[in-house]
Parts: sequence; C-alpha cells; structure tokens
Amino acid sequence: MPNLPQSQIDSLLEAIQPNRLLDTAMALVAVPSPTRSAGAAADALAAILQNHGFTVERPVADWPEAPAVVVRYDTGRPGRVLQFDGHLDTVHLPFAPPVFENGVLTGSGASDMKGGIAAFVEALVALRESDAPAGGGILLTAHDHHEGPWGDRRQLRALLRSGIHGDGVLLPEYLADRLPIAGRGSAIWEVTIRRDGEPVHEVLRPPDLPDVLGTGAELVMRLRDLNRKVAATTRPYAGHDSVFVGSLHAGEIYNQAPTECRLSGTRRWVTPGARQSVLDEFRGLLAQLAAETRTQIDVSFDLPGDAFSIDPAHPLVAAFQTAYAAVSGAPLALGDKPFVDDGNLFAGEAGVAALTHGPAAGGAHTIHEAVTLDELVRVAKVYALTALHFCVPDPPSNAIHPGT
Ligand SMILES: [Zn+2]
Repeated sequence: MPNLPQSQIDSLLEAIQPNRLLDTAMALVAVPSPTRSAGAAADALAAILQNHGFTVERPVADWPEAPAVVVRYDTGRPGRVLQFDGHLDTVHLPFAPPVFENGVLTGSGASDMKGGIAAFVEALVALRESDAPAGGGILLTAHDHHEGPWGDRRQLRALLRSGIHGDGVLLPEYLADRLPIAGRGSAIWEVTIRRDGEPVHEVLRPPDLPDVLGTGAELVMRLRDLNRKVAATTRPYAGHDSVFVGSLHAGEIYNQAPTECRLSGTRRWVTPGARQSVLDEFRGLLAQLAAETRTQIDVSFDLPGDAFSIDPAHPLVAAFQTAYAAVSGAPLALGDKPFVDDGNLFAGEAGVAALTHGPAAGGAHTIHEAVTLDELVRVAKVYALTALHFCVPDPPSNAIHPGT
C-alpha cells in the first residue's frame, strides 16, 4: 500500500458532510420501493446525483419497471475503478417513512440498504470535491430485484452481462463486525414426490402401491447421511458444506394414502465453482431413490449465488483494511459472510472481488429498521478512503521490462 500524505486523507475526510449524507438517506427512504417496484426510488437517486453534477445513465438491465442508476466518475488518470453497488429495493413489509431522532434514522430501507447507498453518494461527492483518487475512478450502481423471494437478481445479472462493473466492489449490506472474504454458495431446493392414481383408503390400496410419504421420509434420512458426508468439505473462513431439510408435507387424513409428498430445504457449499457438481450429486440421489421406490421425483432449485473466496492479499482487501484502520484504529477481523448477497454474484458471474461492509444497523427485514448517523458517516469515510487507496495509477512494478 503506497503511503498517502496525511493532508490528503484529512481533506477527504473533512469533505464528508453528515447533514448532506442524512438528507440523501431521508430522501431515499421517503420513496417506497418494494422489490420489483423500485422505479421511483431509482428516479429519486438519479435526481440527487444529477443535482450534484454527475451524468447519470439509466440502463434498463432487464427490468423496465425500474431502470438501474449508473454514474461513472472518471479521474481522467489511469488506475483501478472501484464500484459502489447497492440495491434500492426493500422487502415487502408495510411502508415506514423516514424519521431522524436522537441521532438515529428509522424507516423502510434505513438499514437495508438506503442508508448505505446514501453513504456511497456522500463518499463519491467527497472524492470529487477533493479531486481524489489519484487514478482510475468510481462506478456507482444501484438497482432493483435483490430481495427474495420477490426478486431474482435479474437486474444485477444483466448489468454484469453487459460488462458494467469495476475492478473491485463494495456492498453496503449491514455487516460490520468482520470483513467477509469467503462465503458459501447456496441452493434452495424443492422436491415433489408423486405416484400415479388417486388418493385411496389405506385398506383398499393395491399391495404394490408406491408410498410417497415413506419415500419422503427415506429422502430425509438419505439427506441426513449426505449432510454428514459433505460436512467434511471445508474451507478457511467459509465453514463447511451442508444439507438441510426444512419442511415435509404429505397426506390429508390418517387413513388415506396420498399421491404427493413435498419437501424443501437448502444445500450450501464452500468451494467456488462447485455449483454444477453439487446439483448433479443431488439430482443423482433423487433419481436413485425414484427408481427404488417407483415414484416420480421432481426438483427445482433457486440459486441465489455461488460460493466465493477472496485472497486476503487482494489489493481491494489491502485498500479496505488501510481505510478501516485509519477510521477505527485497527484493521477489521477477517471472517465469513453468513448470508448470500450480491457479492456472490459479482464473484461467480464476473470474477470480480466484492467486499460487503456496511453500517452496524438493526432491524433489517422488519418494520423497525434503524441506523445511527454516526455509523453512516463512519462507513462513508471507509468507502472514500478505500477508493483513495485502491484507485491508484498502475502500481509500481519490480519487473524488468524488455528493452530496458
Ligand atoms: Zn440488502
């Protein structure tokens, strides 16, 4: 990490204005934006950025309802591009308007993640006012379609497909107690076991009638065995593979043989790129069971993201830790990411390192979201300083160039 003059760091930190940040956050929270209906909030963000003098692009990105918001701040000097990426949509809960009281902002999206997006905007404005960073630039992106089960992340996928991404990404999800450099991929599976024919009284069953409920129970046991087996697959910071059964439904009354049994659960894995082999193994187990029990077994998967891991020596990690230490006194402990977020997509679909770090905020996915302005200011400082350290002209190389 090149040492930057303290005066440059100080003037960047002084350019961050808590009141301006709060105005942005309140303006974003004031516009309801349940997942798939974030268009008005995207318009509000675009207007805020335009008022700051930025050119705003609005790529449709597979969701005409709410075109994405994209700003490219280019220093005009060579160097890396740091991306600030956030989702503007909120979970489908009754709308809570923004309220700021005793230093705490509450309202829909205050924690997840309009407060964090406001911190991005503040960092971006402060960087430009300070004529920083020294090279490269900032790409700010905001989009809809994040929160499941309403959204399927199509908008971020479309942005990535069209090559709109930086050389490293920060995501302001509400995780502040560790720096997640690894995380598990996950598949939410739903299995349906069926037999031909109608429901029938148990005493009238033909002797060879396939038993869908018994097959469901057998599947639970086989998945329990699979869970024991795959738990041996581990990775630093990510933990271990797992299989989990969360529901089993079959039957109407005590003496009727049903025709259908439904189960659902998760399969999580730690190895980046293992998604296909993991799903193939799962399908193979089901095919075997269907053949043994003369049932039909169908499965569908929801795939929020693949496993990822980031080299602790990655320049983005180094830049972040230098920034974090400048603001908080010491680097942040490395750890795992307990949930799947858009960082898994950046890694899996575009091979871009993404770090999740946001305010220590409360109440995400409830109607009681709350975040302190102090926390929003803290993360805005970390974001701005990370850019200062990451977006440098091509780092000096010790390589001997041909001809010299
Ligand atoms: Zn979120």
